[in-house]
Amino acid sequence: MKFDVLTVFPEYFDILNTSIIGKAIKNGQFDVQITNIRDFTKDKHKKTDDTPYGGGAGMVMTPDPIVSAIEAVDPNHEALRLYMSPRGRTLNQKTVESLAKEQRILILCGDYEGIDQRAIDLAIDEEMSIGDYVLTGGELPALVVINSVARYIDGVLGSSESTSEESFSNGLLEYPQYTRPENYRGLKVPEVLLNGNHKDIEAWRLEKSLEITQKNRPDLLKDADLKEYLPKKSRKKRG
Ligand code: SAM
Repeated sequence: MKFDVLTVFPEYFDILNTSIIGKAIKNGQFDVQITNIRDFTKDKHKKTDDTPYGGGAGMVMTPDPIVSAIEAVDPNHEALRLYMSPRGRTLNQKTVESLAKEQRILILCGDYEGIDQRAIDLAIDEEMSIGDYVLTGGELPALVVINSVARYIDGVLGSSESTSEESFSNGLLEYPQYTRPENYRGLKVPEVLLNGNHKDIEAWRLEKSLEITQKNRPDLLKDADLKEYLPKKSRKKRG
């Protein structure tokens, strides 16, 4: 899998050298190329923005450096081209899983008040948001896409970590986790996790997952896939 990121602030992406993601890139499990949109300006001051037609606050990124950069990086349009934008489809775990099936993803980061619509019309496949709030630029959203998608690339997570038993994997939020010590400041690890009975542990975790989801994200419950938790008889009845 290869990511191409187009930005006017490449230094944001230094963080990709860190932690599990840094290790995976170093080991060649996936590749990220950062392209500075400023390198594609014809302006001697390397200007990439201008005032908006029709008036309004802030500056808008001009289309030519963006479109030229995209055409240079992906001349045959082999990549899925995303523009990070608050008005795009909101990223969720299902979208992350489907993005992980792509061979190449190009991510365009906007800055200032956003980009000229013609760059989107000419060169972008999809606008994608990371949530209903506005950030100063698309760099953090691009890092969110790379990080969340990379976790599904073979070999990126160690064998002890998995994407299959965590929040959203079954449509629910994750149950509480505990590690040593058994007693911390008077708070004890729940007895059920110490008794080694896997059936009891599974039932406790499901109960906690349901409780937490009901409390924090009740909207998730209507789409949660709970079939595998139902007793076999009731599963049959439901066809
Ligand atoms: N004027 C734009 C609007 O109202 O939709 C917001 C522009 S924002 C200040 C600058 C850039 O940050 C956007 O072009 C986009 O690339 C990025 N951005 C901001 N919030 C985002 C979000 N929630 N998801 C994805 N990208 C975002």
